[in-house]
Amino acid sequence: MVSIHTMTWISDLRRLQETDVALDIRRGSFSDAESRMGETEELIASRVRVEELAAELRVARGGQKDIELEADALKSKIGPAETKLYSGSIKNPKELADLQADIDQLKRHLSAVEDRDLEALALLETAENAHRSAAAELTAMEAAWNEEQAEMAALMKALAIEIAEHDVVRAEEAVEIAADTLKAYNHIRIARQGRALAKVDRNLCLGCRISLPTNVVNKARAGNVLVQCPNCERILHA
Ligand SMILES: [Zn+2]
Repeated sequence: MVSIHTMTWISDLRRLQETDVALDIRRGSFSDAESRMGETEELIASRVRVEELAAELRVARGGQKDIELEADALKSKIGPAETKLYSGSIKNPKELADLQADIDQLKRHLSAVEDRDLEALALLETAENAHRSAAAELTAMEAAWNEEQAEMAALMKALAIEIAEHDVVRAEEAVEIAADTLKAYNHIRIARQGRALAKVDRNLCLGCRISLPTNVVNKARAGNVLVQCPNCERILHA
């Protein structure tokens, strides 16, 4: 009768450990998924970059527009001046020469402004391309991120259900175990990376691979009392 009781006692603990290991795996996966929820630094940096490039683009567009207005203003002076010059209304040679000089001056100015406009248009195009490609990159990144977030949320939901189910099983298994034994088991489990039990193979503790004294091996084989490995403190079972 004692040996049957012992076998039950050990197998109850082994079942509990299996449940605990299954729980640990699911809790670990849940934490991993949870840590991947929320915006990544990469995504935030990409969004900031797009905003910066949009600001640069606005500046480039404004600068080019100003130059265009400057050119328009000059053209609106040159046109009427030339009309006046060729109208024949001015007879005084000095006055004609002055007007011609004014027109030449305005045209030189316009030519310089048009050169600046070409530079401004090239800058504007560069700014537009940079903004467009960064925005496309951000859109792709956000799509991938949204997909991953949905996957993680679904995974966490499934894991939460499995964890709740295992918690119920664990509670049922734990009530079958004597309070002192359960207390020792829980304590060792925390201290030994989730595994409180170790199998004895010949005279070896498979938990820490140390050779066990013969009396310890014999006690573990008999299984009447809780026997711990003198090295790793795990509960030994044969
Ligand atoms: Zn050991």
